[in-house]
Amino acid sequence: MLRLDGKVVAEARRAVLKDKIAHFTNTHGRKPGLAVVIVGADPASQVYVKNKVKTTTELGMESSHLELPESTSQADLLKIVAKLNDDPNVDGILVQLPLPKHIDTNTIVEAIHPEKDPDGLTTGNLGLLLAGRKRVAPCTPYGVMKILEHYKISPAGKRVTVVGRSNIVGKPMAQLLLDADATVTIAHSKTKNLRKHTLDADIVVVAAGRPQFLGADDFSPDAIVIDVGIHRNSENKVFGDVRFKELNVQAATPVPGGVGPMTIQMLMENTLTLAEKRSLRRT
Ligand code: NDP
Repeated sequence: MLRLDGKVVAEARRAVLKDKIAHFTNTHGRKPGLAVVIVGADPASQVYVKNKVKTTTELGMESSHLELPESTSQADLLKIVAKLNDDPNVDGILVQLPLPKHIDTNTIVEAIHPEKDPDGLTTGNLGLLLAGRKRVAPCTPYGVMKILEHYKISPAGKRVTVVGRSNIVGKPMAQLLLDADATVTIAHSKTKNLRKHTLDADIVVVAAGRPQFLGADDFSPDAIVIDVGIHRNSENKVFGDVRFKELNVQAATPVPGGVGPMTIQMLMENTLTLAEKRSLRRT
């Protein structure tokens, strides 16, 4: 079984991206900038934010990082997002999710200007993706496409089942695969006989958020299995939606080390894309 190694793919892309960022900086006299905002002290979110800030800086981009207390009001957070929208040196704004319960996530995500939305999650950017005029695609499904591309796995004409229909993973994943000429089935919690849909597929993308709920019996021996799930047990061990160890398929992504490293890589690539698009508009 071929192990689809997201770390290897991300590292290969990182070297290319670093050069592109240096080129942008030389051409425009400023670095592309990513602003990361975190509200509250969720430990997992803090680790994610730390990694994003570190990677941004290592790649030669400008990183600004705002840590706000859990008690921050929605109105104050909206003001901060508005200020970042107006800041010419900020190309991407990332508000780390989840937000505290008293803040409405949709309101905050929608407040980010779509031209500064490197997560591709505003309705403006999701709409463009659906209409075939992508500005940037959501990082995780976009990263999955890049893993397939790296390993020369073309989805064209293949039967693909996407398990999960969230706005952040499942739906944009299905759209990207459709754009790549796959025949796509989207499964969800109300799908009857899920196994039939996974067994029938040449490629299965699993993003159900259910720890290790699919295994060897759920896939054809020729299948390509992409596991998006991330879960942590009490000993902080990370695992996915799929029982990777028991798989005997053509190729599969492990967890950790599969899709995860690609998500942050695509965030960086999307930030540069947005910087380039904005600079083109200004010239
Ligand atoms: P959500 O909880 O928003 O969505 C889960 C989806 O899976 C829903 O559409 C749900 O169906 C469906 N689902 C749940 N149970 C089943 C089931 N038994 N059979 C079929 N479908 C089912 O999760 P996300 O999309 O945000 O994330 C999915 C997973 O990916 C999580 O583990 C998350 O941690 C991980 N993730 C990993 C990232 C990475 O960088 N690798 C980035 C983002 C997420 P319904 O709509 O009917 O409820």
